[in-house]
Amino acid sequence: MGILTHRDLLAHVPRDYKDWRRPTPLATIAARALRSDEAFDEIAVARIASVRDVRARIPITSAVLQDESGTLAAVWYGRRGLAGRLSAGMRLFVAGRAQAKRRRGAVTIELNVTNHRILGDDTEYKGEIVPVYPASKDLLSRTIRAAIAKNLPRLLEDVEERLPAAVVRRHRLLDARAAWHDIHAPREMDDVLPARRRIIYEEFFSIALAAALVRLQRKREGHALALAAPPALFERFERALPFALTGAQRRVIEEIWKDLREPHAMNRLLQGDVGSGKTLVAAAAILAAADSGVQSALMAPTEILAAQHAEKLAPLLLPFGIAVEAVFGSLAAGARRTANERIASGEALLAIGTHALLTESVEFKRLGLVIIDEQHRFGVAQRAALRAKGEVAPHTLHMTATPIPRTLAQTRYADLDLSTIDEMPPGRIPIETYVVRESRKARVYEFVRGQVARGRQAYVVAPAIESGEGPSSRVAAVDEAERVRRRELKGLRVDLLHGRMPPREKDAAMDRFSRGETDVLIATTVVEVGVDVPNAALMVVLDAHRYGLAQLHQLRGRVGRGSARSYCVLVAPDDAAEARRLEVLSQTEDGFRIAEEDLRLRRAGEMAGTLQTGAGSGTFGDLVQDFSVYLEAKREADAIVSADPELERPENAGLRALVEAVPSARAILISS
Ligand code: ADP
Ligand code: MG
Repeated sequence: MGILTHRDLLAHVPRDYKDWRRPTPLATIAARALRSDEAFDEIAVARIASVRDVRARIPITSAVLQDESGTLAAVWYGRRGLAGRLSAGMRLFVAGRAQAKRRRGAVTIELNVTNHRILGDDTEYKGEIVPVYPASKDLLSRTIRAAIAKNLPRLLEDVEERLPAAVVRRHRLLDARAAWHDIHAPREMDDVLPARRRIIYEEFFSIALAAALVRLQRKREGHALALAAPPALFERFERALPFALTGAQRRVIEEIWKDLREPHAMNRLLQGDVGSGKTLVAAAAILAAADSGVQSALMAPTEILAAQHAEKLAPLLLPFGIAVEAVFGSLAAGARRTANERIASGEALLAIGTHALLTESVEFKRLGLVIIDEQHRFGVAQRAALRAKGEVAPHTLHMTATPIPRTLAQTRYADLDLSTIDEMPPGRIPIETYVVRESRKARVYEFVRGQVARGRQAYVVAPAIESGEGPSSRVAAVDEAERVRRRELKGLRVDLLHGRMPPREKDAAMDRFSRGETDVLIATTVVEVGVDVPNAALMVVLDAHRYGLAQLHQLRGRVGRGSARSYCVLVAPDDAAEARRLEVLSQTEDGFRIAEEDLRLRRAGEMAGTLQTGAGSGTFGDLVQDFSVYLEAKREADAIVSADPELERPENAGLRALVEAVPSARAILISS
């Protein structure tokens, strides 16, 4: 289970607790079972009245238990020869699941025993709270529990108090050893929460501390180029636009220009929903860099997106004499060489490309600004490789159309400064969104035909490429395209786009669609990010319940980019619960609200991957639920770092070790 060290074992915390302190009289168990249809957990202390092994395919041991209140049948499954070790008259503690079994009019009540212990005749039963550990088929919770219980005092010996005493006092935290003791061996159920809070606090505190240290270090490195653009340039830029900037765009540009003026590298995340106008903001940043004679590089995850950036940025930048060069993997060798030369000479002030920008042959004369679009699609190493092309640390602007709930932004992107465009350009027509039951799919295709008849184009997105992959019930793009071409959409120009097509074919399909040569594009989520075809007015998502809300919101963002009214149709099973989850999308187009809802629904789990402590599966903090603890810890961490940036004061001596010891905090230090 990935538990390698003492610390991992200690950090493998219970996922639940069973209160085994108060045994239930057998008669009470029987009465409960008669009232309940389901099996339920019970514990009892009783004597064995009789016991025998039953001959069956699997070993079964059967006994009658007796206490002052009455008798009860007990069974053990799969414990060969157990009857030989038990005998009538013995006193037992048993824990198991009780259930009434009704067979041919007769009712028997049975306790399916999962744990038992033989008690001496006059040993008083001393109950306890039993931790239930995340376990596997081969490593049972019981085994883990025994290992931890037996060694807890030794495991606790290694625990040091790493939080400053003042912090512990101020937040009324348990001390470290007491917390780790209580999470594994609580004396009362009420002991668990404070222990958990303390452990989460330490984890959050170390993440916040790492982030504060990284931000500070960047500020002190001091060797980025200070790019001071005069205010008059901003005015010229604004005047050259065919429309007024939104308030949010202006605010965000100001934030970025302010960063650029500093002699230390900017590291800023720009988030703004699809269509919020991030391109303009990027243009303004590039303009400021170019004004100081410094080159910029913009990296996008696909050629389609890079090409669209080039198309949009060139007209904004050319009036200011900024030449744009594109670097794609698919460029012919000659064109590639020319592009490289113009970048190396500094003639091209902006290079736009895919990860092809990272190849060694691309050298900049003076790279001062790096913009990374849809930054989550690139790995840490790729982002670092592009930054390394600057002679000094270049300023970095990360852009994303995926709204990040503030909870996640605080932790996962804790080392980035955050700029948010929370306002859409005026005049956008809202996208009408409908959740439609699977059984009405034929109607959906009629609607598609209707839109095409009005000269519009449509996307149809399916979760799988071909049938026979993954869960078999998923609608597959290839099959769907084949069918609708012959039936529902017969006579229309239907094209196909999916991730397993060669890049050249993908681009060709996308190009045909953007030129209006295709009516309906049946695709997988490769159309997700950034693709911009203003005439596309309808997005149909099949099997919509298979996507997260945030991803559906992204898909919806492919339409509503032109002047026509646009629609999004989410096709989901007739199952009401699935449909209800999707209704949020028909109620709002606010990406942040949708992202928060998405996060709430999925809970921490996969999204809060950063909070995994140690190698074991023990995840403590739930970002959503424990967000207030995070904010508390962050305030404390920020205050400590600003008062003692080197962590030199004696009371802060343990803090470096703390950051190093918590994997998610260490990751922040390493990745930046
Ligand atoms: P995204 O944030 O998705 O990259 P874009 O930068 O592509 O958004 O902008 C979406 C559309 O809105 C573009 O057609 C752009 O010209 C337009 N746009 C951007 N800013 C404004 C504005 N302030 N007023 C009107 N239209 C704008
Ligand atoms: Mg964009």
